[in-house]
Amino acid sequence: MIRVYNTLTGKKEEFLSLVSGKVRMYNCGPTVYDYFHVGNARNFIVFDVIRRYLKHKGYKVTFVQNITDIDDKIINRANKEKVSAESIANKYTDAFFGDLEILGIVKPDICPKATEHVSDIISLIKRLMDAGFAYQVDGDVFFEVGKFSDYGKLSKRLFDEVKQCARVKIDERKKSPRDFALWKSAKPDEPSWDSPWGMGRPGWHIECSAMSMKYLGETFDIHSGGQDLIFPHHENEIAQSEAATDKPFVKYWFHNGFLNIDGEKMSKSLGNFFLVRDILKKFSPQVVRYFMISAHYRSSLDFSDKSLAESGKAFERIENCFDNISENVKDLDASQKNIHTEWTNKFEEAMDDDFNTASALGVVFDLITEINSLIQAQRHRGTEAQIKEYISDLKTFCSILGILPSIEDKELDKDLLDLIEERTKARTKKNWQEADRIRSLLEERGVVLKDNPDGTTNWKRKG
Ligand code: AMP
Ligand code: ZN
Repeated sequence: MIRVYNTLTGKKEEFLSLVSGKVRMYNCGPTVYDYFHVGNARNFIVFDVIRRYLKHKGYKVTFVQNITDIDDKIINRANKEKVSAESIANKYTDAFFGDLEILGIVKPDICPKATEHVSDIISLIKRLMDAGFAYQVDGDVFFEVGKFSDYGKLSKRLFDEVKQCARVKIDERKKSPRDFALWKSAKPDEPSWDSPWGMGRPGWHIECSAMSMKYLGETFDIHSGGQDLIFPHHENEIAQSEAATDKPFVKYWFHNGFLNIDGEKMSKSLGNFFLVRDILKKFSPQVVRYFMISAHYRSSLDFSDKSLAESGKAFERIENCFDNISENVKDLDASQKNIHTEWTNKFEEAMDDDFNTASALGVVFDLITEINSLIQAQRHRGTEAQIKEYISDLKTFCSILGILPSIEDKELDKDLLDLIEERTKARTKKNWQEADRIRSLLEERGVVLKDNPDGTTNWKRKG
């Protein structure tokens, strides 16, 4: 039984999908006006792991993640660079998918773009107008929050707090400061679409209601995002969707904690961010992923070079175990999968507890210790079958967590291979100084050597 923390109920509860064996899941995706930073990456990585785990538990998961490709930030950037909003959105959408791939994040099943769903959005706004939940002022359409009695049930915010938190200047045309835009009338030089209220573009919140319900139905299992989206974005999504359908919108709401830097949320607006593509110049994708899952997904996590370096060290233990396996365990049957051992129980116990990846990593390390000691004792007969089952488990766990060491491509440039050969000769002659010199040379070029007691040398690329 999986137990999950549901922001809506404020409790941990048993996970029961609406349709047996199926999970329909929606995660709020990026606004494509820039490359994404490691704070955003935390969201994409943790929900990638949760999605993989639900699949492992036998669910058929449909995972939808939108692309916000029309928004003030995109328009501002386009104006600054004197290009179209579309070209900015296309550029950063491509970059987004490229970064996802490098991070080993499985592409969502459906990635709807707001600009390709304007007619769905308009239909939903019409429904809200017909049901009396929305009103029009000068080509803008607003949602009337006062008409939706359940408003605040997700964020648990009361009206006064909502008022105090309104950061933007209050639009006097609104019936109440709480009301929010569903449709924005066209401004000069902005992309716009025709609608019953004149030319304009959709507000941000309505896009997610329209696209999630289009692909997942009017009630679906999981909606996720970062904690900053609980209010107002997700609160507004609930209001719009439930007002239109009169059905519960989402059963379980999951929110990841922030990636902080010096105790503050990493964000574009504060300028305290690092782009994923820059971090990947220093650390491998697996190390970045390891770091992200080293804490529970709901807690906050502090980003620093030091903590990433620590993750690098920990990941090295996993890599070393895989090296140990490939050097010492022969005839690993590739078809040996889905084996259930006591380790599977331990791993699942950790993950069933609200996807506790930190505990699951603890199980991975205990298993590594066990495998390493079994390999050492391999001369004793009778452990071979068991060790293979454990290795299969280890691979499964690492692949769910997305930290399976990449299969080394054993192709090195000829000059590097020649250097390794030269060093082997130097070692045979006990010329340690020369051997060390070549070792450093190779390290500078990203190749790390490991000398074995039998005189041979293995190499791997630096993580
Ligand atoms: P955005 O493109 O800003 O809408 O962000 C995409 C996703 O990343 C959303 O789910 C955000 O909540 C999430 N996010 C943004 N900043 C952080 C952060 N510092 N830590 C964790 N998640 C974040
Ligand atoms: Zn959203």
